[in-house]
Amino acid sequence: MDSTTGSSTEAREDPGWLGIEEASPFTGKNKVTKVAAEAKQWSSLVNATLVVLIMTMPPLIFIGGRLGAPTVWIKSTVANLSAPDREESKKDALLGGLLVPGFDEQSCVSRYQSVYYRKNMTRQPSPYLIKKLREHEALQRRCGPSTELYIQATERLRSGQQVLDSNDGCNYLVLISYRGLGNRLLATTSAFLYAMLTNRVLLVDPGHGNTLPKLFCEPFPGTTWVLSSDFPVTNFRDLEEAAPENYANVVLNRSRSVTGLRFVYAFLDHASSQASRLVYCDDHREFLHRVQWMILRTDQYMPPGLFYNPVYREELDRMFPRKDSVFYIVSRYLLHPSNEVWGMITRFYNSYLKKADERLGIQIRVFDDKPLQHILDQVLACTSQEHLLPGVVSTGGGTPSVSTAAGGRSRSKAVLITCLSSWYHDNIREMYWKSASTDGEVVSVHQPSHEGRQHWYHDEHDMKALAEIYLLSLTDKIVTTGWSTFGYVAHALGGMTPYITVKPQNETVPDPPCMRTVSMEPCAFTVPHFDCAKKNFGEDNPPRMPNVRTCEDAFWGVKLTDAE
Ligand code: GDP
Repeated sequence: MDSTTGSSTEAREDPGWLGIEEASPFTGKNKVTKVAAEAKQWSSLVNATLVVLIMTMPPLIFIGGRLGAPTVWIKSTVANLSAPDREESKKDALLGGLLVPGFDEQSCVSRYQSVYYRKNMTRQPSPYLIKKLREHEALQRRCGPSTELYIQATERLRSGQQVLDSNDGCNYLVLISYRGLGNRLLATTSAFLYAMLTNRVLLVDPGHGNTLPKLFCEPFPGTTWVLSSDFPVTNFRDLEEAAPENYANVVLNRSRSVTGLRFVYAFLDHASSQASRLVYCDDHREFLHRVQWMILRTDQYMPPGLFYNPVYREELDRMFPRKDSVFYIVSRYLLHPSNEVWGMITRFYNSYLKKADERLGIQIRVFDDKPLQHILDQVLACTSQEHLLPGVVSTGGGTPSVSTAAGGRSRSKAVLITCLSSWYHDNIREMYWKSASTDGEVVSVHQPSHEGRQHWYHDEHDMKALAEIYLLSLTDKIVTTGWSTFGYVAHALGGMTPYITVKPQNETVPDPPCMRTVSMEPCAFTVPHFDCAKKNFGEDNPPRMPNVRTCEDAFWGVKLTDAE
């Protein structure tokens, strides 16, 4: 079986009952011939198949579904796991109904195996969110690529025909992919949430070189989220803030008239004007819902901005009773590394991190090619201040008091460092090689790659970045660099509140060198600095709002918290 294409015999068999002719979820070339129109039909198909599975396949694991989702037996992933994991063989791979059953397991191993690498979920998906997800999956299947409705919608877009109030219920949100991987992952989770709130089918630009399918599995069963290369708006990646289709222009210069526009464009780049951010205030009952195609450019995390809109807020409150769980839950639903990336993650984890008593992640984001001593000093000051790493005995110093683990052996700590440069890793590793730790703890230091500098649209580079973000998310505690979306995604995916290093001034270690954040949510830079009711442009900061706090590392950014 070719693990990168998922073209196993099973992969060909399973989609048969989904009504798919050719199974190739990784290439996005599925031909959906008969799409189950209703979620109900989907559910009964699943049930029928499951009965057959139960009767014919003895080595199964029981996984309980919730909320009317079928109770599911899935084929065991245990055979692929090593011995210690087998002891935990009863884990709920579908995360309490968050994930839908029915995918071919071998085509996306991470979807079923990640539960064995992660800690138990600390935030549960609400029944309302699960219901909305099942409805959204049905929408993606009913209107998604290759369906008759999609072909009609793209034909209308191609022919320049304006489509308002389409009566087939198929509206679309196209996400433009740009910037680094952390930015893209924040944008993708945001776009998905926005698509759910506005009942739009999400289609993601796979990027130059079609990178998306090489990084992630398809999240929705029986369809693809990959925007096809023949998307009729050929220059969509070049759309700028000044485009006539930009929401700000439609509101401010066209009196909300969309006459003559083939689509509406939302420009929510980190450098967007406050006028462009008005899109957060559209409650989709205004005019936006009438437009069939919407194109979104963002490199940002949108959910805090969506909370500024009273209508979205009501819906989000129902979906996420705990406000600090938005990225954590949405990312677990949406972001399943491809088999190739999953192999990179698990090989590294099993080789270097698994056996340690504790794992510490340190993400160092540097923009300078040359080593920066003050950055190294800052990281070490942080790990010392927060008791994340032991000190080392100075040469000729006394005998350390030994910290022991179960069985009387020394406690071990594995440190995962991610950085474009290897210098920081080399220094920290050498420190624990040359000297004993003060508490006798055995500290091992590891870095998967040191790419030197950031590359754009380079598959292998992006795959390494994803593997490292994911590995960081599997640690127990984490230190991240302020302002870095790479770090934001790593800690939020892992459900950790990080120790964040703030930007040093004048090459001096700040005091304190780092601080613990109030929430595991990513920081959002591009939120309205106005009240949606007043539209009072000109404010320096976002208005105060329940469950929204100023970020520790950026006074102009906000993040969701559980505290009022
Ligand atoms: P940000 O610029 O820190 O907000 O993070 P982004 O992820 O958006 O962009 C930085 C990009 O640089 C990443 O996507 C990677 O391509 C690269 N990069 C930065 N730091 C690392 C790292 O520690 N490991 C790897 N493999 N790549 C990195």
